[in-house]
Parts: sequence; C-alpha cells; structure tokens
Amino acid sequence: AIDDLCALVRHDSQLGNEASAQGWIADKFAAMGLDVERVKIDINALRDQPGFSPPVIDGCDGRENVVGLHRPQNPTGRSLILNGHMDVVPTGPAEQWRFGPFTPHVEDDWIYGRGAGDMKAGIIAYCHALQALHDIGLEPAAPVTLQSVIEEECTGNGALACLHAGYKADCAIIPEPFNQTLMTAQLGVMWFQIHVSGSPAHVLDTSAGSNAIEAAFGFFETLKEVEEIWNHPTHRHAAFGAHVHPVNFNLGKIEGGEWASTVPPVCTADIRVGFYPGMELEKVRETIEAVKQSALDNHPSCKGAKIDITYRGFQAEG
Ligand SMILES: [Zn+2]
Repeated sequence: AIDDLCALVRHDSQLGNEASAQGWIADKFAAMGLDVERVKIDINALRDQPGFSPPVIDGCDGRENVVGLHRPQNPTGRSLILNGHMDVVPTGPAEQWRFGPFTPHVEDDWIYGRGAGDMKAGIIAYCHALQALHDIGLEPAAPVTLQSVIEEECTGNGALACLHAGYKADCAIIPEPFNQTLMTAQLGVMWFQIHVSGSPAHVLDTSAGSNAIEAAFGFFETLKEVEEIWNHPTHRHAAFGAHVHPVNFNLGKIEGGEWASTVPPVCTADIRVGFYPGMELEKVRETIEAVKQSALDNHPSCKGAKIDITYRGFQAEG
C-alpha cells in the first residue's frame, strides 16, 4: 500500500491536471479485475443539477472520473460506493518542501507529498481493502463501486457527474483523512470573488483617492463579524456544539494595485465561507450581500469604493 501510495503521489494531479493520475488508477482497477468505466464531466449536463457549482477554471469539459465496478454474479445484500478524490490542492512555495510536493518521502511512519493524506491514501486504502478480501478468497456479495473523482477541492462537480451518470448504492463511504473518526455531518462551503473599484490618486494626496486594496480588507473585516456570530454557541448546529471553531472564513487570494506610489484603483479577492447544514445557499448569499452594503455604508476603508461579487467555485450546502 505504501508503494502504491508513493507511486500515485508522484502524479501531479492539481486542478486541471488529473489525467495521468486517473490513468494510473484506471490501470489499478483493471489489475484488480474490476470493470473500468470513465465518466466525463459535462458542465452543460450538470448545470441544472442540485449541488452544481460554477467551475473556477476553463476547460473542465471532457476531464474524467474513473470508476471501478465489482459486480458479483448473484448479488445479495446491500451495495456500496467507495468514493475518493484524485485532485489535490495547490502545492505552496517550492522552498517550503524538503523533497518537493510530488517526490514522496517516507519518514517516521509518515508519508510526505501533496495529496498523500488528502486523499490518495483513502483511495489506496479502499483498493487494498478489496484486494485483501480477494487474497483470502472472499469477495463482497453485493456490488461495490470504486470512484476516483476530480474537482473535489473546488466544486464537487466530479462526484456530481458520477451521480448524474446513474451510479447509486445503498451506502457511500468517503475515506477522507479525519484522524480515524467517523464524520456524520459536514459544513457547507461557498466561494466567491469580490471585485473592488476605488479611484486612483497620487500618494501625495491619498485622501483624494479610494484605496481598493484597503476597501477589500474593509469588506473582509466586516464579513469576519458574521463568522464570529455563527461560531457563537447559540447559533450552532447541534452536530458542531463541541467543536472548537467550526465556521471559518478565509481570504485566500488577493490581487490589486499598480505600484507603490499610486492609490490602487482595483482589487480582486477570493474568499471562502463555511456555514452549517440546513442553511440555504440563497440565505448565505443574502448575508454576504448585506455585509457588502454594511461595509460600504460604515467601514471607513470602503468609503467611495464599489464592490461587485461573483459566486463561483463551491456553492455547496452542508
Ligand atoms: Zn479531501
């Protein structure tokens, strides 16, 4: 399993680049004697499905999930889907890796490499669980569907494509790395981008301009007040009562300005918010729009700025 995991980690499967890792797992499923099927992501077919999220990159169309099917001749009992995602998050700065993100390294019972934990280990674990049964001459009595999906880290459209293609089972297990605990509730996640326009001015008279970067921070500061309220014990969903800090908002990316001596006229920022199961996406978006208005009306950094919000990436209910 360790050898397999290291082999899989060697495939850089960041967003949009999953094909070689998916090829590896297709070969693995075939070697295990499973029927291998490929499920294309067809954005237009998914657009109206519940759970769809607008893609964050162009060219999602045609990229593939890989499915391995165990089909017993006379099935009895209940069927199972084992679902894992092959995409990994960005690697961060190269100089912060000792061995590189795609050069797996085993040290003190730990495997280092992007995606080794989240969640290529889960995919390798479900393969070896099935293989272990086979090795002792047993097989599941009911159908088992192994899914290696893409787009999990930003939209969920990969798993959605599998659902839309008709793969169903009595139960689905996702072997994500959660410290050997069973997770039965999951927060919703929403991504959005703010486009802030200020007005440019020379540094000798900054008060004549409106600083778009400072306005973006003004918006985020106002938004963080909502995070605090949603984490308050009286606002919590019961499943998260004992959690240290369940709801987290993140300003993940910011881009703006021209150079040091001009008040920046534009800024874009990518933001992620979490929210409890049972909260409707529309209500979350209403809250974000109300934050925008409040920031524009009340936050000193937002004076004179204009803020437009675009929702893309995760629009996922809890
Ligand atoms: Zn994951």
